Amino acid sequence: MKRRDFLKLSCGVAAGAALSGLGIDLLAVEVHAAELTKAELVKKALQTTTVCCYCAVGCGLICSTDKKSGQIINIEGDPEHPINEGSLCAKGAGIYQTSAANDKRLTKVLYRAPYTDSWVEKDWDFAIDRIARKIKEERDKSFVYKNAKGQTVNRLESMAHLGSSNIDSEECWATAVYARSLGLVYIDHQARV
Ligand code: SF4
Repeated sequence: MKRRDFLKLSCGVAAGAALSGLGIDLLAVEVHAAELTKAELVKKALQTTTVCCYCAVGCGLICSTDKKSGQIINIEGDPEHPINEGSLCAKGAGIYQTSAANDKRLTKVLYRAPYTDSWVEKDWDFAIDRIARKIKEERDKSFVYKNAKGQTVNRLESMAHLGSSNIDSEECWATAVYARSLGLVYIDHQARV
């Protein structure tokens, strides 16, 4: 860190401490200090260009990684990319948060039972069994729709499917076919949100 930046940061922290004593919210000061530190790290980082994985627009990104640890420090839009010229939508702009650098990222199955207020760690077998059971229950009780000929139709309105734009076109096709086979009509996609 340069002397000038160090002084700016020190002043910010000192001012923050004084404001804290007056009962003023310091979040903005803390965020600014963290951004200054991050900006210094990014300047020294290895910068690699890549493409956002989320949708077919294919925006360009610059990924900054620490030269020693290989850890991702920052991901931002690539201003030299012909498609996005540095801009990103909310999903692309938040892509850093989905990387391993985010220690708050969810990596385990957490379950909160009905009428409780605490989360319990479970394994994937538990989650998959429960999801399958819930789908079966809904399908068993939801076949109430009939067509003009009085025939029961495959229509399930008590469930919805929200697809991830983190999957490719073929996976999207297979997922949509699967959701339709269950009778779902409320099918949407993250890329539309
Ligand atoms: S999800 Fe957003 S940032 Fe990513 S490629 Fe699509 S438009 Fe660009």
